[in-house]
Amino acid sequence: MTRIVCKFGGSSVASAEQLRKVRAIVEADPRRRVVVVSAPGKRNNAEAKVTDLLYLCHRLAAVGQDFSGPFGTIRERFTEIQKDLGLGNGIFAELDALERSLRGECTPDFVASRGEYLLGRLAAEFLGAKFVEPAECVRIAPSGSVHPETYELLAQRLQDPSALYVIPGFYGADLQGHIKTFSRGGSDISGSIAARAIHAELYENWTDVSGLLMADPRVIDDPKPMVEVTYRELRELSYMGASVLHDEATLPVREVNIPIQIKNTNQPNHQGTRIAERLSREVDKSTEIAGIAGKKGFSMIALDKSLMNKEVGFAYRLLGIFERQGLSVEHCPSSIDSINVILDSAILGEKRDAVIDEIKRSLQPDKITYEPELALIAVVGEGMSRTVGIAAKVFVALRDANVNIRVINQGASELNIIIGVVPEDFEKAQRALYSAFVSAA
Ligand code: ASP
Repeated sequence: MTRIVCKFGGSSVASAEQLRKVRAIVEADPRRRVVVVSAPGKRNNAEAKVTDLLYLCHRLAAVGQDFSGPFGTIRERFTEIQKDLGLGNGIFAELDALERSLRGECTPDFVASRGEYLLGRLAAEFLGAKFVEPAECVRIAPSGSVHPETYELLAQRLQDPSALYVIPGFYGADLQGHIKTFSRGGSDISGSIAARAIHAELYENWTDVSGLLMADPRVIDDPKPMVEVTYRELRELSYMGASVLHDEATLPVREVNIPIQIKNTNQPNHQGTRIAERLSREVDKSTEIAGIAGKKGFSMIALDKSLMNKEVGFAYRLLGIFERQGLSVEHCPSSIDSINVILDSAILGEKRDAVIDEIKRSLQPDKITYEPELALIAVVGEGMSRTVGIAAKVFVALRDANVNIRVINQGASELNIIIGVVPEDFEKAQRALYSAFVSAA
């Protein structure tokens, strides 16, 4: 029997009640043999995540300040879970040891990792599972990425196909054996590497939403959920801000073709969203596009020069200016006599004048304009390159909504059409596109 790795995020393990749901989910399918857990997240908006409280304790302790307030909250959160689930007293000694570490020498990574560690201990006891210590089998390279040795080490630790295992997410050890965490939200990566290590048939990522939505619910009322999305589509959509997964979490499973299923711990029967290399169904009308996402905060520098297309190295020299200033370029749509460079406004920031001066001096464009506020909207879908009329639909929808398009970029991957609009048109444009592609489909 092949196995499923299920990772439960912070809100799924935030309380005893949530952990009971986790147990019911794990017991509902015998293939669910490897459980990866986050630290307890928020139970409501007013509450802090345990990981944030741990970082706070470390910061206070590092400057000799009293950390008993946040530490008391951490203690309470774990004690409540332990009591409510009727678990053993081991957690008290663990919490005391952590408090002592905070009074002595300890790294922020060590302290932050304790949220996952302690929850992992409780969850393993509650589920009757074997606890796997990530510091012994997850190697994190200095860059923060997974060291390839990890897969072999994890495969050995998780080798019994009939055993149930619990592994804390978010941390492992560096090459010297010291506790090291991934970046925030990194339990998603832990789940992905565990799935790859055991050649799982599926990586289930349990969270508090029923998968990805076809548009931003802050802009579109009740957008449709996505049943399936490809890794490539997900990358495009999450770049634009639509994300339920850590950016680096797809890579380990993607490389070996293991699909991810996003599921909702609070609504386990909802099918959620499947993320895979290919869509399992032929693209039909309702999946003509995967989704729409948008992001504000871009700036655009637009250059015009007659016969630009004949000038050897023009684009090369232009992009070299950005490189020398240490600026990464997001998009670079062009035509025969014009080229636009789109950047993250926060990154361009104070370097703007220097960049524009240098462009004028070294490239002598006929005209150079600067657009300080650009919002980008991406219409994303694998089916796009094979479907006639997608671009027409985008432009008709925007014309009918009276949205002026400032720039258009069809990605070379033929996976998306990106349009730039002024921020005032951002929401109107998304609504127009959503109703053209989704409501009207
Ligand atoms: N607990 C960590 C965080 O809050 C890691 C995770 O939940 O994935 O970032």
